[in-house]
Amino acid sequence: MIRFEEARQIILDQARPLGKERVSLAEACGRVLAEAVCATWDLPAWDNSAMDGFAVRSRDCRAAKPLQVSGYIPAGAPAREKVEQGGAIRIMTGAPLPAGADAVVPVEEVAEADGWITLTARVEPGQHIRRQGEDVARGKPFMAAGTRLRPDGINLLASFGQAFVPVFRRPRVAILSTGDELVELGEMPAPGQIINSNSLSLAAAVREAGAEPLLLGIARDEVDSLRLKLAEGLKADILISSAGVSAGDRDLVRDVLADLGVRELFWKVAIKPGHPTAFGVKGDCLVFSLPGNPVSTLMTFEFLVKPALERIGGGIDPVKPRVRAVLRESTKKKKGRLQFMRVSLTQDGDILYAASAGDQHTGMVSTMVRAEGIAILPGDEDLVAAGTLVDVYLLD
Ligand code: AMP
Ligand code: MG
Repeated sequence: MIRFEEARQIILDQARPLGKERVSLAEACGRVLAEAVCATWDLPAWDNSAMDGFAVRSRDCRAAKPLQVSGYIPAGAPAREKVEQGGAIRIMTGAPLPAGADAVVPVEEVAEADGWITLTARVEPGQHIRRQGEDVARGKPFMAAGTRLRPDGINLLASFGQAFVPVFRRPRVAILSTGDELVELGEMPAPGQIINSNSLSLAAAVREAGAEPLLLGIARDEVDSLRLKLAEGLKADILISSAGVSAGDRDLVRDVLADLGVRELFWKVAIKPGHPTAFGVKGDCLVFSLPGNPVSTLMTFEFLVKPALERIGGGIDPVKPRVRAVLRESTKKKKGRLQFMRVSLTQDGDILYAASAGDQHTGMVSTMVRAEGIAILPGDEDLVAAGTLVDVYLLD
């Protein structure tokens, strides 16, 4: 049995980024940039107005004299005229600043009559002007390789005319459920049977992690059925199976994987839930054999599979951010196992408190549905005292 950090390191050591591809910007949200991107031009490309108002010379505004309005610059047109001494040019938001002007007076801060404006507030040099290159200067790298694109990044790339972007290929993740008791969603389970819910939850988790799930369905607890499906799954970047990996006499997944040439790098991790997890490799395929209890399956996905997915998908930081919270009640746990505890969170002033979200048995999916986070109770002790500060990963 190995420690959690050791298991995760063994996995990350095997996880190498996939190749690159170019995708259209319209399809790129959620993808990971494979190369740094530099600004094609200054953004903004020219000094422009941040308000609807009047372009002025700030020094003309110190004397409380009216200014004569001599033109109009709409957004979308170049600034042809110049602001002369004692003059002002009407300007719209985003329109280029005319020569001579060093400030914009918002329309709300003037009284206008017969082509003249009188200022009703102080005018500072430079006010309401967006300077050329102040957002991003031309040639500057503005997004690093490994950045996961969000709508804001899409906006910036679009502003620079990038219709296509280099991204890492999306990992393909084969998902296999194993067990004689399983029927597919849509079938009515007979007595003793249950619906294969793990395939659905894993596919959702894979998609949420920005990867592409390939559903292999159900393998029965017998060698031939397992061999057929697992062999198919080894063609993917990652193969995840659930169940059939404990010490029962129908738990055949590891034997069949070994037969198929998968080199096992560990079996059994000092965590709860998720203890019987196994991990191996065949060629470039990472093979995760997760336990079958739906909570164990999702927890081990979250803390062991997802870091690998993040890394082979080109992400910079394979380990999720966490918050710190104060444990509300003393909690018994298994000595020597790191425990993932499903918690509810409450904020009290500056302090975040974590309390058990309900029965922590691995069969209790409803507790996970109610939980807002997963608290990490460190490995060694068999009791974590109330008031202890613990790491919590947010379930988003
Ligand atoms: P096992 O690891 O085969 O002992 O399975 C552990 C528990 O998880 C058993 O109660 C199984 O019925 C349940 N289980 C296994 N596979 C699935 C699945 N695909 N969907 C839902 N529950 C499952
Ligand atoms: Mg089973």
